[in-house]
Amino acid sequence: MTSVTPTPGIHHVTCVAGDPQRNMDFWVETLGLRLVKRSVNQDDPGTYHFFFADAEGTPGTSMTFFPWEDLSQGKVGSGQVSRTAFRVPEGSLDYWEERFDEHGVEYDERVERFGDEARSASENASGDEPRAETVLPFRDPDGLPVELVEVAIPDDDPTVPWTEFVPAEHAIRGFHSVTLWLANPDATMDLLDTMGLEQVATEKSPGDTPGDERTRFAAAGPVGKYVDVLPTVQAGRQGHGTVHHVAFQTPTDDDQSAMRSAVQQEGLRPTQQIDRHWFRSVYFREHNGVLFELATSDPGYDSDEPLDDLGGRLVLPGEFEARREEIEAQLADVTVPRAEAAETAESEADD
Ligand code: ZN
Repeated sequence: MTSVTPTPGIHHVTCVAGDPQRNMDFWVETLGLRLVKRSVNQDDPGTYHFFFADAEGTPGTSMTFFPWEDLSQGKVGSGQVSRTAFRVPEGSLDYWEERFDEHGVEYDERVERFGDEARSASENASGDEPRAETVLPFRDPDGLPVELVEVAIPDDDPTVPWTEFVPAEHAIRGFHSVTLWLANPDATMDLLDTMGLEQVATEKSPGDTPGDERTRFAAAGPVGKYVDVLPTVQAGRQGHGTVHHVAFQTPTDDDQSAMRSAVQQEGLRPTQQIDRHWFRSVYFREHNGVLFELATSDPGYDSDEPLDDLGGRLVLPGEFEARREEIEAQLADVTVPRAEAAETAESEADD
């Protein structure tokens, strides 16, 4: 068996949205992420593809959306990423609840996960046991379930906060985890092990829907570190407010090729490598039907736009540039929220 470099963690998560402007306004202005790439779905260039991330588009920070307005509302269920969680600095959930109140965002009661009991049950080889964590669950305007989790952010953290709308001390700092809802978790848990994630804890969590046991896997890197697994048979349906796929980091082509072979040896059917322009990707459906992607770290979102100008224009990679006029004509106009614009609007409202 080929030796596999353990994945450092989640690379990006891609979701289905409805109205593109509403999606942009929420993820940029309300949540404070940076639009690092404005492009089109490479398999359906009449649809936008938005990438929201930290200030530099660091691997492990980008939440991306296909605003497919023609689709109907989806339903979160088995065979999907059911929750996507982001890291925020310790002590910032009060700020976020206030912000959500101001912006009319629906959120739930905070949840404690992996407290003392789970911690003592989670001794593991790396000594990398999870701490008790506080989680703020909420939904985006399409009903997508999202969570903020308080984390001690180390000084040498690879993420760089984007501070246009949210101050650095409270800003989202990349992914914390994804939660998978699975009909038959065992095969997927073996796959996560093959990909180099280590089972670190289980917790009976009666507050969770729908399964009552959460099993946590930890990846090797600091960002997008965790995958939680919950058993469920509740059926889901792709549509607005659901996750389309989750991508894991395979930093180099060699890492990706070894991981691809390992996945194939598990009986799964990965695609050949596909050039996604900001990374190179391999896709496969895992045993329970969740679409997984393996993505390289390079060339990155600043490979075709200067870092200062990320997201400033519609980027049409490769052969799509030649069809710019035709493609632009199919896309709704969107305005990227700007902090200056928001201040002007507020001061006008004060007058
Ligand atoms: Zn992807």
